[in-house]
Amino acid sequence: MSLLKLENIGKIYVSDKNVSVGIREVNLSFDSGEFVCVTGKSGSGKSTLLNVISGMDSYEEGELYIEGEPTSHFLQPDWEEYREKYISFIFQDYNIIDSFTVLENVELALMHIEDRAERRLRAMELIDKVGLTSHLKHKGSKLSGGQKQRTVIARALAKDSPIILADEPTGNLDSETSKEIIDLLHRVSKDKLVIVVTHNFEDFESVATRHIRIHDGSIEFDHEIKQATKTEIEKRSEKPKENLLKNGLSLGMCIFKSKPRLTAFLCLLMVIGTLGLFLVTAMCQDAADAFEPNYMFTHVDGRLVITTDSGRVMSEDELREIAIKYGAESYLRFDSLLDVGMTYGIMLESPNSLYGSKNIYCDFTYGEDFGDNILGRYPEATDEIFLYLPVSYQTEFGKDSFTDQEITLFNLPLKVVGVKYYYDNNIDPKCLLTEDGFRLLTAAQYLQRSSVSASVTITGDSGDKLDEVLMLYTLMPSFDIPSDKIYVGSPRFETILKSGESFKANIDLRATYYVYDYYYDSSTQMTFTRKFTETDVTATKPTTAFLGYTTDMLVISDEILCDIAYSVLEKSYKQASIFFESDKEAHRVAELLKAEGYIAVPSDTTYEDSADDAIWIVLEAVITLAVWLLSVVFLAFFINICSLRAIESFKGDMAIMRSMGIKVRDIKVAIYVRMALCLIPALILLALSSVLIYTSTFNQYFSYLYPWQYLMIVIGMAILVLRTTKKQIARLFGESVKKSMKGGNVA
Ligand code: ADP
Ligand code: MG
Repeated sequence: MSLLKLENIGKIYVSDKNVSVGIREVNLSFDSGEFVCVTGKSGSGKSTLLNVISGMDSYEEGELYIEGEPTSHFLQPDWEEYREKYISFIFQDYNIIDSFTVLENVELALMHIEDRAERRLRAMELIDKVGLTSHLKHKGSKLSGGQKQRTVIARALAKDSPIILADEPTGNLDSETSKEIIDLLHRVSKDKLVIVVTHNFEDFESVATRHIRIHDGSIEFDHEIKQATKTEIEKRSEKPKENLLKNGLSLGMCIFKSKPRLTAFLCLLMVIGTLGLFLVTAMCQDAADAFEPNYMFTHVDGRLVITTDSGRVMSEDELREIAIKYGAESYLRFDSLLDVGMTYGIMLESPNSLYGSKNIYCDFTYGEDFGDNILGRYPEATDEIFLYLPVSYQTEFGKDSFTDQEITLFNLPLKVVGVKYYYDNNIDPKCLLTEDGFRLLTAAQYLQRSSVSASVTITGDSGDKLDEVLMLYTLMPSFDIPSDKIYVGSPRFETILKSGESFKANIDLRATYYVYDYYYDSSTQMTFTRKFTETDVTATKPTTAFLGYTTDMLVISDEILCDIAYSVLEKSYKQASIFFESDKEAHRVAELLKAEGYIAVPSDTTYEDSADDAIWIVLEAVITLAVWLLSVVFLAFFINICSLRAIESFKGDMAIMRSMGIKVRDIKVAIYVRMALCLIPALILLALSSVLIYTSTFNQYFSYLYPWQYLMIVIGMAILVLRTTKKQIARLFGESVKKSMKGGNVA
């Protein structure tokens, strides 16, 4: 049985316009140890013959037998395996991978050797055999024609296949180099079947054992040539078991390294994709926020908001009873501050800020604990405040300078004594006061929210001069004033008194409030009266908070402020908060209180549970998500197109690998590996960006992302890489080896 047998083989090329015959009715059989020369005019079908034998081109007629087995039923994978097992191909134009070194080019054919060191050793042996040891590390593109062809021969030998096919291997070489190559080919192929296509039979005369001439696709003659005997055929050693992943991995690394421009471009694409996804995600953050709870009240764990369903004002006793009955931890009769929230512009003194001030929008909280890990301390005095802020503030005003901050809320100047920064910009900032501070600010806030007018009748000792009634519309609380005193600040007095001069006066304060009840949409009028004797009347500024007044105002102590506010609140304020151990407990008690004629709402109740605009929130989320998806699709499309363009240049290399019989599966894995490697710089940049967004002023424009969003970006990119790579592979393997080679890496 012969090694290779062609029976009536015919190959026709059909193109758009014409049909041409490659070869027809070829009958040949070959054996190991033969050195066959194929000659013929240009276009006679020599290359076609080799391509059919190599399995790189299909044949339409006849049958090709390999070791007695017919091949006409072979599908692509069978041909891949066939080439892998039997064929080494040497081309006229060398077809080595230009971006690989000599060593890598040869190692490529030794992928079946698992051990890297052993593989390297074997490659060096072969390179030595073809006399290229001095050029081990030279890139393919830097070699001369002869050196390239030597590399190809070393590679062909590396495969140790029984058949070596060479299509005009010396066609591009000068006669001196040709001789060396022919000699080399002869020396190294003693036990193999060698089929060489050439124009110069004379060059091969001394080594050929057979001469076949082709004319118009048919065999013209087939002569045997007697040569000195070749050495006996050695048994081919059994190949070690292949390891798909290992081969693919090392090949992947190799193609990653060897084409720096392509690699850089693919990396850039990955960076564009990843950062693009990152930016789009950050900008579409609102959509994600729509799924965040939108609380009706400021949420404090365990807080239950109650009121009576008749609109009756609850008494202190009533609340205490409820609190005791249901095991509450505490209660807050006047809780309006909790749901107000405040906006305050903090002046930034830090040099790295782009802006002069930054607004804090924050909720007040009550009795909440932010743990030990805080800067500064928790508030202890009435005028002290603790802030719980997103970390961007730390970036803006440094780690410690918060203590320089003074915050004036409802005309009361408060000292910031502690702060805690957190890393999730979807949490709302909060501020914390002492119990007294909370009580005081509630009064101050309440007076601001109500409309107040006070008439003051001053009858001073000095009589006539100050005997008049002032109408005041501003009550200015101050920490600096004794509780039994009240100051009148009036620009009008400045015309009467010299600056700094003051009088003792007796004041009857009568304040009328219009109390707006937000829960019942009504307004009540209430009056507060109080007599102050021996009170200072001044034209100077008693406190710093008093700066720049333009209307008459009363400056009162914090105690008087509370007196006034709570005398009104006690009669009119209908809501309260009771604090339980947990939200769960609050829900349980809410049910029980409802049965007793209260309206009870746990503070974790969200608008989505009840509000009409839930539909709009969802709609906004849907639209934003759609925009996000569109952007992602666009990015994917862009990357796909670009990467497909880019890998065109890889087609040639890949075709060479295939022609060498490297397993398609290995090449595919390698392409995946290469793309995965290209994703690494992008992921590093993503990590850096996430750090940047936490530590720079960029977060003015971008939101922080949730961990799950980072995960989504990474998964998204992984899917994109998989899809793109799949497309690349489809593109690369969609054509026959022969066709790919033409478009590709032809020297
Ligand atoms: P040789 O190698 O002897 O110069 P080829 O085998 O390349 O000849 O070509 C034999 C014939 O087949 C020629 O007529 C050529 O035009 C035709 N042929 C070869 N390859 C193709 C192809 N890919 N498409 C169409 N015709 C082809
Ligand atoms: Mg040819």
